[in-house]
This record gives sequence, structure tokens and C-alpha cells, in this order.
Amino acid sequence: MGIKLAVVTVTPLQQNCSILWCEETLQAAIIDPGGDAHLIEQAVDQVGVSVEKILLTHGHIDHAAAATQISQRYEVDIEGPEKADESFLQSLPEQGKKWGIPALPVNPTRWLSHGDKVNVGNLELDVKHCPGHTPGHVVFLYHPQKIAVVGDVIFQGSIGRTDLPLGDHDQLLTSIRDQILTLDDDWGFLPGHGPTSTIGQERNSNPFLQGL
Ligand SMILES: [Zn+2]
Repeated sequence: MGIKLAVVTVTPLQQNCSILWCEETLQAAIIDPGGDAHLIEQAVDQVGVSVEKILLTHGHIDHAAAATQISQRYEVDIEGPEKADESFLQSLPEQGKKWGIPALPVNPTRWLSHGDKVNVGNLELDVKHCPGHTPGHVVFLYHPQKIAVVGDVIFQGSIGRTDLPLGDHDQLLTSIRDQILTLDDDWGFLPGHGPTSTIGQERNSNPFLQGL
């Protein structure tokens, strides 16, 4: 018994929206529904889970554009990100115009803070605040199986960009050093874009992390 994950790649920015569910109860969280709501809904039907909530790592368009639509469709709450991303969530319609991604503003039911717990079915995820890519970015950790969903903090072979509004490169490196690299090498993670990886692989080979 434990966690299951299915990934739906959404938007022209190829974002990894994930459906994370509790094997015991088949209750699921949709993490970062960034667009293409119909694809997400199809995937939910295919895996046969019951949507319990939406979780957001941060407020960028490719992660949050369909959050309000999906929350209305399943009548569920939106939890996260940290409150510092509020301006991004309010400006989603404007962000979306740049990328051709239709979006409604998002008003989370619950802002998340560092150290919070989030429940999905019988699972409990730990919330870590990892600012830098955006000021309110959070990641979700499931300790029993050493699985992390990290949004745009770290990727296979790369790290989140910090040239966007409110990005801060030094702060991102500090977040990675203190919240990500403190995990054991055998932790696996799903990033917001591209393939999955492990902490050990990135510690050894990610060029952005050398010297941290
Ligand atoms: Zn982002």
C-alpha cells in the first residue's frame, strides 16, 4: 500500500501534471493542472480514482492554468502554493495570453507553509518551502516511499530558471541545498518538466549543483 503516480503532459510548455493517489482508498490529488483539462480528466477516468483535491507547487501559468476549472469540475479544494505566489495566481489570465493558454485566476482554499502536512486518502505528504524559481514555490515529499514532486525547483540535469519575475538564483540554490540535497540518494523525484530522476544522480552529475 502506498502512493501511485500517473503523469499527464500538458500545455505547449510540456508540463508534468501528476495524478497522485492513495492505493488503499483510490483518493487522488491532481498536482499542477497547468492546462488541457480534458486530458487530465481522461487520465483520471483511466486510472479510476476519485479526485479529492488539487495541489499547486507554484503559480506559473503552465502549472496552475486549469486549477480553478478542475476544482469546479470535481468540486474540490485547491491547496498551495505558499502565499508569496498570490500575485501569479491572480494574473493567470494575463500570463495565459502570452502563451495561448486559457486560464482563470486561482484562489486557493489553503495556502501552504514550510512544515505543513497535506493528506491524500490515507497518505500524508510533507510540504517544504523552496523559494527561488518563484517566491512561494513548495515541494511535496512522501517519506515512506522516498518520492518527491518538486515542480520547477530541480530537473534531471538542470534547475529552475530564475530570469522570470521574482526569480532569485541564490535563493533557489539555497533551497536546493537545504531542502532537496538533504534527502538520501535513493529518493526519486518528478520534476515539472522532463524525465524523473533521483537525488543521487543529480548530486553526482547535475552541473548546477556542483560546489553546493
Ligand atoms: Zn515555473
